[in-house]
Amino acid sequence: MLPYAIDEMISAKSIAARVEALARTISDHFADTDKLVVVGLLRGSFIFIADLVRELDLPVEVDFIEASSYGDGVESSREVRILKDLRSGIEGRDVLVVEDIVDTGWTLNHVRGMLEARNPARLEVCALLDKPSRREVDIRATWTGFEIPDEFVVGYGIDYAQRNRNLPHIGKVRFLPS
Ligand code: 5GP
Ligand code: MG
Ligand code: MG
Repeated sequence: MLPYAIDEMISAKSIAARVEALARTISDHFADTDKLVVVGLLRGSFIFIADLVRELDLPVEVDFIEASSYGDGVESSREVRILKDLRSGIEGRDVLVVEDIVDTGWTLNHVRGMLEARNPARLEVCALLDKPSRREVDIRATWTGFEIPDEFVVGYGIDYAQRNRNLPHIGKVRFLPS
């Protein structure tokens, strides 16, 4: 691995304020739901989903999908594999997919298509981060936390080669000359 430094891009305080605002919007949108199925995409969304569900003023069920596209590199492979599927059926249910970053859009496109095929009543997506300049598939989250430039980021659940998920803020990785 190349030596690198991490520069803070979004503070823990800004993230908390934004998560609270997103949760209010989502609670309003699904106000009449029986029970919302909140689906986290492992592993990058685990901290975001934990914070988000605690701010939701709704009955919720939490489930997870693990999709892989990246391996340990920094480039999307465009091929999405499902490593772990939902435990529960979602037919006729209200579903919120929680994603860490929408980058090229391949992952969300694949997961969304797979879940839509199961005929949920409503399916919306909340992504913490969006890099619109990187998009290869015409898809967007219903709600986005922050739009960011084309930088490789870590922290708040998001890793670089499985490290830095425990940073409380979002930082950008700056590679150093070795
Ligand atoms: P996409 O399929 O949209 O290209 O990529 C989606 C996934 O790639 C994200 O959910 C995330 O796991 C990973 N990814 C995209 N950009 C970054 C980044 O800047 N840092 C890290 N660590 N992962 C990223
Ligand atoms: Mg992800
Ligand atoms: Mg990753």
